[in-house]
Amino acid sequence: MAPTVKCPTCEKLVLWSKSEEFRPFCCERCRLIDLGEWATASYAIPVKSTDEFSSASEPERDEWA
Ligand SMILES: [Zn+2]
Repeated sequence: MAPTVKCPTCEKLVLWSKSEEFRPFCCERCRLIDLGEWATASYAIPVKSTDEFSSASEPERDEWA
């Protein structure tokens, strides 16, 4: 079962797969709208738990020195 994400623009569920060219957006239009939002600098990215971006965090291990 492939994970789904919400399109940041219209909140439609988008399948997180290679076939979804515009993920996390549902379509090119939504992506362009979102890029436009960036220009206004009033858009905050919600930190979502995507495995692709969180795999690099290792806990510090000073005690093992
Ligand atoms: Zn959308």
